[in-house]
Amino acid sequence: MARVMIVGAGGVGNVVAHKCAAQEEFSDILLASRSVEKCHQIAQRISSPKLKIAELDANHVSHTVKLLKDFQPDILINVALPYQDLFLMEACLEAGVHYLDTANYEPPHEAKFEYGWQWAYHDRFRQAGITAILGCGFDPGVTGVFTAYGLKHYFDEIHYLDIVDCNAGNHGRAFATNFNPEINIREITQEGRYYEDGKWISVPPLSIHRSIPYPEIGDRESYLLYHEELESLAKHIPTLKRARFWMTFSESYLTHLRVLENLGLTRIDPIDYEGQEIVPLKFLKALLPEPASLAENYVGQTSIGCYLQGIKAGRPHSYYVYNNCDHALAYQEVGSQAISYTTGVPAVIGALMVVRGIWQQPGVFNVEQCDPDPFMKLLGPLGLPWHEVIDGASPFQDQLVEEVA
Ligand code: NDP
Repeated sequence: MARVMIVGAGGVGNVVAHKCAAQEEFSDILLASRSVEKCHQIAQRISSPKLKIAELDANHVSHTVKLLKDFQPDILINVALPYQDLFLMEACLEAGVHYLDTANYEPPHEAKFEYGWQWAYHDRFRQAGITAILGCGFDPGVTGVFTAYGLKHYFDEIHYLDIVDCNAGNHGRAFATNFNPEINIREITQEGRYYEDGKWISVPPLSIHRSIPYPEIGDRESYLLYHEELESLAKHIPTLKRARFWMTFSESYLTHLRVLENLGLTRIDPIDYEGQEIVPLKFLKALLPEPASLAENYVGQTSIGCYLQGIKAGRPHSYYVYNNCDHALAYQEVGSQAISYTTGVPAVIGALMVVRGIWQQPGVFNVEQCDPDPFMKLLGPLGLPWHEVIDGASPFQDQLVEEVA
């Protein structure tokens, strides 16, 4: 039996709370967040005697430490915002509690998408004898596990990695983001970047795109983005010659985004407005729908997977592994849309891996450094069935042919 504390009561926090409550292994759950009424709403929906709630501003390390010492969880699942990562890691160190999150730390006034700050905690976690698992949502998260699983079972060396992320859903709103608007818009408006031959190549935002076929969905225009798991995968899989990340966007979404950018509403530096300092992107966030509120009428599917190419016993191979998730089914089950669902389920599986001792090792780790098999085994049963295509046709196959020719 284990005790778990969840921080953050947004779309993802809702899924994590539902799924933790459904696991017999978690005997006691504390859901803590800045606006306690959101915890209350989630607790009402779940209605489990195992679930308690608390108000917490996680930017105050001492408050988190107090809650941790009072509640004594085995693990803290951080599904608040990336700005809270380091505060929560500090609190876990002080209270001796394992830590897991789904997004890398971000400084408030600069978009970085880097693991450096969190990797710097490795020795302190190791000395304290506790585990921190970073980026255990879907992407980052399952994409790293998929890559590790492919490497373990199908390759001696992976040379090319293409992560493909499609949301073919429709929420019926003119413009909204599927997870926290600030983080989402920062991610998309930054320069595109990919890894090739040991170097990072930067390109203007959304300037490289191609049509990619997605299972049960069809062809969708997909844009090359920098995504944080590229950094950790390039570090932990040294045979990689190239790693890229692709995401679909509709024309309408991109047009809205362009207009917002042109107006300056996506800026993250503070500006003076009638004597008051405001950050335009934070103001925009206040105007946009809450990601959690999109769930009710969301239809369609997401499809996220990894195309791997490399060699096994000297012969070229390709491997595609993916999950499709249906927005409406996710809503029926837990009251969240598929983006929150595909993030929350892996966070719970990662927490199970840690409390079961399978992924427990002192220090700070990304998911691809851990054994993928037990995680993959739980993905389907917990709601994210996955499929694989071994040596099938791939939209990226041509590069492999070029490489071995
Ligand atoms: P939401 O904005 O819906 O929810 C964030 C929650 O965190 C809110 O309840 C918010 O409280 C709370 N929060 C914010 N600041 C604090 C604080 N200082 N102390 C305590 N609680 C705080 O976001 P999502 O649920 O969509 O996303 C949650 C996380 O998941 C984000 O970090 C996001 O980047 C990550 N993510 C990861 C993905 C992956 O695949 N790896 C995909 C999607 C998301 P309040 O209501 O008061 O604002």
